[in-house]
Amino acid sequence: MAGEADGAVPDGTTVFDDEIPGVANLDPDLLGALRLAAADAANEGVRFFVDSGWRSPEYQEQLLREAVSKYGSPEQAARWVATPGTSAHVSGEAIDIGHSDATAWLSEHGAAYGLCQIYGNEPWHYELRPEAIDHGCPAMYADPTRDPRMQQR
Ligand SMILES: [Zn+2]
Repeated sequence: MAGEADGAVPDGTTVFDDEIPGVANLDPDLLGALRLAAADAANEGVRFFVDSGWRSPEYQEQLLREAVSKYGSPEQAARWVATPGTSAHVSGEAIDIGHSDATAWLSEHGAAYGLCQIYGNEPWHYELRPEAIDHGCPAMYADPTRDPRMQQR
């Protein structure tokens, strides 16, 4: 099973927890934007928790195997979990945020920080899109299978 060194994060982890590899190994620009947003959200009483951030390829592979058994086929699992070769979590460029008050806050304010929801079916999954600061977030994909980045494995 994957441990903290592979990117598993303990309950209660926040975007400020530098000692947790799942946070520390995120892209520095993404992490910087998250911390700016989290500081502003905190002024409104909203805390950002990290459900998942950076993941090792081994951890991603484990999550994919679990998803295949949960959803019944690789095709169904692909709607929720990417392969180690395509996941933006493995490259440190994606974060899954909780709880629902934090995702609601980001849905309203995230674009101003370049933080965008990418997939319609994953309201918790955010990536950095710096152009969103001026132009708003790009249209979402319905789910990851519609994302051209997910086509190669
Ligand atoms: Zn995600």
